[in-house]
Amino acid sequence: GLEFFSMKPSFKWDELKKNSDGLIPVIVQDYKTDEVLMLAYMNEEAYNKTLETGKMTYFSRSRNELWIKGETSSHYQYVKSLYADCDLDTILAKVKQIGAACHTGKYSCFFNEIAKKDYVEKNPQKILQNVFDVINDRKVNPREGSYTNYLFDKGIDKILKKVGEEATEIVIAAKNPNSNEVVYEMSDFLYHMMVLMAEKNVSWEDITSELARR
Ligand code: AMP
Ligand code: ZN
Ligand code: ZN
Ligand code: ZN
Repeated sequence: GLEFFSMKPSFKWDELKKNSDGLIPVIVQDYKTDEVLMLAYMNEEAYNKTLETGKMTYFSRSRNELWIKGETSSHYQYVKSLYADCDLDTILAKVKQIGAACHTGKYSCFFNEIAKKDYVEKNPQKILQNVFDVINDRKVNPREGSYTNYLFDKGIDKILKKVGEEATEIVIAAKNPNSNEVVYEMSDFLYHMMVLMAEKNVSWEDITSELARR
């Protein structure tokens, strides 16, 4: 349990604005990544239970009853924070999600693509994690002709040699007043560093927690 949430909330249920069903929609996000996991509704009992227990508790409109998320699936959601929006009619919850948020087994409920413009992902956190996910996937599911698998097969000494080389190439490239080259070498370095991370079973979270702690 999270004792934190037995603390007095800043807003009582009566201060929040309910919809026509007397409920408040709750947007649920993964506290680490901000990924949107699901939308559900709370009534007063669900709101107070959530605050008391630190476990996300909703009102199920289909079953017409109180719903402790995870009570049957054990895919509980532990509350990290609760915010109300500007006009107090919507709650945003950041949670530690156990298992999957969706009853289909997907981590997030939002997998039904309706429309999508082609856009290039530019969020550094997402790009680095995506590349790292691919690298880790190659480790488990090797691919014919994969350079990443070539590095894993050669082993740690080869990976370390590449990391050292690419670090040196950054230093050399940085002497060039034009930044194109250093960007290229930094990308090379980060890729090889992530291969080393995968080899050493270090996650991005290990690194970002260490940085955040400093
Ligand atoms: P759970 O709370 O995860 O033990 O699931 C109990 C029941 O709640 C499931 O059988 C579904 O009917 C429903 N349910 C669970 N997760 C969701 C969700 N993300 N959205 C809508 N319904 C859900
Ligand atoms: Zn609002
Ligand atoms: Zn779902
Ligand atoms: Zn290079």
